[in-house]
Amino acid sequence: MKESCEHAAECLKKLRLILDGEVSEDEQQEFLKKIESCLPCFRFYNLELAIKDSLVKAVPSKKVPQQLIDDIKSKINEAV
Ligand SMILES: [Zn+2]
Repeated sequence: MKESCEHAAECLKKLRLILDGEVSEDEQQEFLKKIESCLPCFRFYNLELAIKDSLVKAVPSKKVPQQLIDDIKSKINEAV
């Protein structure tokens, strides 16, 4: 597994599309296969998944305020 990604910006863009559900199932599977060998992107994907997951759990109705999602997303964007 690589410790760095030479195309991180592209990977992250795609990851966000996947997490937003804007990518077809086939494309998603293909990309996930690709990032399994790409450690930083794989980590980032799992981090995003965990955040998404905790948001869902934190709000039983599954209605997460859009503001909260935007806040978290902008924090992630700052961190990258
Ligand atoms: Zn990558």
